[in-house]
Amino acid sequence: MNPRIKLLRGDITKIAAGAIVNAANGSLLGGGGVDGAIHRAAGPGLLAECRTLGGCETGKAKLTKGYNLPAPYVIHAVGPVWRGGTGGEEALLAGAYRSALDLAAENGIRSVAFPNISTGVYGYPKDKAAAVAIRTVSNFLDGHPEMDKVIFVCFDEDNHRLYERRLGR
Ligand code: ADP
Repeated sequence: MNPRIKLLRGDITKIAAGAIVNAANGSLLGGGGVDGAIHRAAGPGLLAECRTLGGCETGKAKLTKGYNLPAPYVIHAVGPVWRGGTGGEEALLAGAYRSALDLAAENGIRSVAFPNISTGVYGYPKDKAAAVAIRTVSNFLDGHPEMDKVIFVCFDEDNHRLYERRLGR
């Protein structure tokens, strides 16, 4: 597995990467889970900027500044709600990861921290989501030698264990 892929257990709002990724909803106006945690830690400037963006399609991402976060940028990626797997969820989840990484590269950001997009209230099965996330990030890194690292930040123990196994750590 690519040595530029890192694995951490903890709270993504504490991570001083070039950008942290938010598992946002399409409104970009905040929510629960990691989205709520990021907005609380960033402060009201983040919501003010998000209001100017006009939302975001599922499978895509948008960039804002990080405000009071240690990371200078937040990339708001919208993953799919799990509906049994026949609604294009896999391509949409891969798209959310890929769009976030493309935005980072376009903006000269060289390290990106991801939460486990769609595996909370959106209900995507955690092991299936881990496979998509790792494959998409690996493929991206193969084509982007300038990207120093991508960090998977797992908040819950289940996800952390699944990533350890899949990454061989
Ligand atoms: P979604 O709607 O995309 O499912 P959630 O925020 O409900 O988003 O959950 C996505 C993942 O984020 C879950 O695996 C959850 O454990 C994790 N999570 C929640 N809070 C944090 C946090 N502070 N840092 C990193 N990950 C978090």
